[in-house]
Amino acid sequence: MASQPTGKEIPSIVAGMFYGEVMEEEVFPFPAFSESQKEMAKAMSDAVNKYAEDNFDSAKYDREAKIPDEILKGLAELGLCGLGVGEEYGGLGLDTTLYARVFSDIASLDPSIGTTLGAHQSIGYKALLNEGNEEQKKHWLPKLASGEIFAAFCLTEPGSGSDAYSIKTKAVKNADGTYTINGQKLWITNGGMAHFYSVFAKTDHEDTNGNKVEKISCFIVEKTMPGVSFGEKEDKMGIRASETRAVYFDNVKVPASNIIGEPGKGFKIAMNVLNTGRLSIGSGAVGGMKMILKMAVNQAKQRKQFGDYIINYGLIQEKIAAIAANCYATECIVYMTTGKITQGMSHFEHESAICKVYGSEKLWDSIDKATQIAAGNAYMKEYPYERIMRDTRINMIFEGTNEILRIFTALSGIKGPSDDLKELGKIADVSKALQDPIKSLGVLTNFAKKRLTKQLGAKTLTKSHPSLERHSQKFTHSLKDFSIAVENTIMKYGKSIIGNELPQLRIANMAIELYVQLSVLSRTTAILNNKDISDNDKEYITLLTEMICRESHQSFTRNYHRLTSTYDKLIPKISKHVAERDGYGFDIIDF
Ligand SMILES: Cc1cc2nc3c(=O)[nH]c(=O)nc-3n(C[C@H](O)[C@H](O)[C@H](O)COP(=O)(O)OP(=O)(O)OC[C@H]3O[C@@H](n4cnc5c(N)ncnc54)[C@H](O)[C@@H]3O)c2cc1C
Repeated sequence: MASQPTGKEIPSIVAGMFYGEVMEEEVFPFPAFSESQKEMAKAMSDAVNKYAEDNFDSAKYDREAKIPDEILKGLAELGLCGLGVGEEYGGLGLDTTLYARVFSDIASLDPSIGTTLGAHQSIGYKALLNEGNEEQKKHWLPKLASGEIFAAFCLTEPGSGSDAYSIKTKAVKNADGTYTINGQKLWITNGGMAHFYSVFAKTDHEDTNGNKVEKISCFIVEKTMPGVSFGEKEDKMGIRASETRAVYFDNVKVPASNIIGEPGKGFKIAMNVLNTGRLSIGSGAVGGMKMILKMAVNQAKQRKQFGDYIINYGLIQEKIAAIAANCYATECIVYMTTGKITQGMSHFEHESAICKVYGSEKLWDSIDKATQIAAGNAYMKEYPYERIMRDTRINMIFEGTNEILRIFTALSGIKGPSDDLKELGKIADVSKALQDPIKSLGVLTNFAKKRLTKQLGAKTLTKSHPSLERHSQKFTHSLKDFSIAVENTIMKYGKSIIGNELPQLRIANMAIELYVQLSVLSRTTAILNNKDISDNDKEYITLLTEMICRESHQSFTRNYHRLTSTYDKLIPKISKHVAERDGYGFDIIDF
């Protein structure tokens, strides 16, 4: 099925996996690009690549820590400042799938430019696009989509990074209905060049008992408003040409008409914005890996050592194959996700978190491997490897660190099954009954019956290609193990699961691997079923699939075992010793 709107709500694929369920009809066939999407993607990709080839000088931008204004102007003229904005507001009106594909090129051609354009539209004015009223949209979107003005997303503060709800910036309502904002925001991309800031600030509200409570609201603040100022441009490790600054609000008076969405709902608005922002990091990672692989293979084909080109050595081939597999796997999860969003999946927070975490880590692994292939050359500033390495590191940090996103994936995923288990009460009895499942079948609760079905054997995927049967069976068994592990974890920890991060880590990692396997099986099935694709291409894809599924299954199994083995118990104990010693604690000469 093409990735086009279906008019129906499509449930989250990953949320279903926490129940041990896969709705095969939603996952197969892989959401392919329609003919019109292909045409548009090709036209945009050609235009972006041509513009970059003729104009970009990324080494210079990095050295000077600046993207020239005329480059941003040229990109804006290509429509790259309003990719997802409707045509009625002057944007290109791309759907999520096309947006991801175009963004993939931009981010790979120059990560600083990708960050600047991403901060502008993936997060900067995304709250306006998602929640703004018609008047606000009409006023702002044409200027933002054309690149006449830039936007920034202002959430982080000196004391509030991952813990975004703890922001201190305050917006106090005045008698005339306006708000006065005071506070400071830290590390804001486009902080100085933006004219339009989406600012998240605490506002006062009353709860149902009439008590005063603080919530978060989202405000449009203009750079020209009295009291807005910003700090020096940060001197960063990577994406150096993108602009990162502190932004200060000193008694900034803002009209109530500048509130985006409902007052007090700003946290949800911010989280929704970041959900889409994270997808851009995933698709940018695909573009990055494609470029890195090209560099790696060119280098390996040109460099001769011990009388042969290094591409002919197994340990170099191992790295090249791994980068290709990283790229294919990430591409599968990203376009599975965007395809389902385009078709009608509105709750995609698990999927987008996984795309960000997996994509950013595979990108990092890929540049590490490519650097090793280019070796000494890669270490020299003359070559782009060290810059790309510096540029790619940020992806594991911003828009929700990968730690926080793993915690989010695990906790929000187990919420569904744990709500079901709440009614259960006698958890111990159920566990006991399950020791002799057949005998107890008649007296079990619904929950236990469901669990029995899982234990006695889950359905295999019926729609995956027959040649993928082995992987499809492994996936099904893992999915069953996963859902039982989720239930066991809920029963073991109860509410205290929230403070137990290592089981969360294991659950998140298992969910990530399952989503990877499922997306890869779906896309490879579509490729193998397509008569227009050559046998040679099919062989290449089959090999990549084999590698990804085997690796992914091993990673799944390792995490599955660590959930219950004593391995994870070592971690807090070692960490405690280190903390007590303020470091490693001894020297080889000590003992
Ligand atoms: C170049 C750059 C650009 C940025 N652009 C923007 C922007 O445009 N807008 C914006 O609002 N923000 C922006 N940020 C901020 C960014 O989103 C934050 O840096 C990020 O959210 C992490 O916050 P922190 O750096 O304060 O780390 P902290 O929250 O202090 O975390 C430190 C470490 O502890 C971990 N950690 C924290 N809490 C837990 C926990 N409960 N369990 C386990 N581990 C935990 C984190 O994962 C991390 O590894 C930018 C940052 C950078 C570096």
